[in-house]
Amino acid sequence: MATIFTKIINGEIPSYKVAEDDNYYAFLDINPLAKGHTLVVPKKEVDYMFDLDDETLAGLNIFAKKIAKAIEKAVPCKRIGTTVIGLEVPHAHLHLIPINGINDMNFEKPKLKLSDEEFKQILADIHKYL
Ligand code: 5GP
Repeated sequence: MATIFTKIINGEIPSYKVAEDDNYYAFLDINPLAKGHTLVVPKKEVDYMFDLDDETLAGLNIFAKKIAKAIEKAVPCKRIGTTVIGLEVPHAHLHLIPINGINDMNFEKPKLKLSDEEFKQILADIHKYL
């Protein structure tokens, strides 16, 4: 069965799309740790990051790089933290999170509750730099 991320990539489930190319898709995390928290996903449906073929794994990071640069311009922060967890959705993905300190990467923290307008504003801010 298709993962929820494949359904997002195929447009069957809506998302706040940050960027897309032939092989990768990036969208705002619906339960963000910080404004601008973005997920970067290979369109190829593989559960575990380290089961990706080398080309897809390398390409994921290269695709993520320009998105991280745009997020850090759009959202005030020290830098973009990246992490891979993958315990919830079995479709390899990178988290890109604007951070100012180590605690901003703590996934046990309560997530932000953002309105549709807030998500759209963040998206517009990021798109200015892509
Ligand atoms: P992980 O698999 O890395 O542990 O967590 C999955 C991440 O995907 C979580 O941060 C969660 O908020 C996000 N997520 C799960 N379902 C959806 C969804 O339907 N839309 C979006 N935008 N994010 C999702």
